Amino acid sequence: MKRTDPHHSHENCIRLFERLSEYIDRELDAPTCEDIEAHIRSCKPCQVCLETLKQTVALCKNLERRQVPEAFTLKLRGAIADLVNKKPD
Ligand SMILES: [Zn+2]
Repeated sequence: MKRTDPHHSHENCIRLFERLSEYIDRELDAPTCEDIEAHIRSCKPCQVCLETLKQTVALCKNLERRQVPEAFTLKLRGAIADLVNKKPD
């Protein structure tokens, strides 16, 4: 049951990812949240990233740090790139 949206663009994932931490913290307005949710519903890589990021943010909050560590951001970007570029078998 794998479906890849032919219009799906890696650019969208990266743009969205850059706002995910704000999304998780509910700092975005409703239309922006809806955009993000609509994208995530149709984008498996972003679903995976959101779950991963949520867990990381929870950990960061325990450490009283709001920002997602930069190293993690880079790692997640790499993961998005891998998932997006992966060819279905
Ligand atoms: Zn995406």
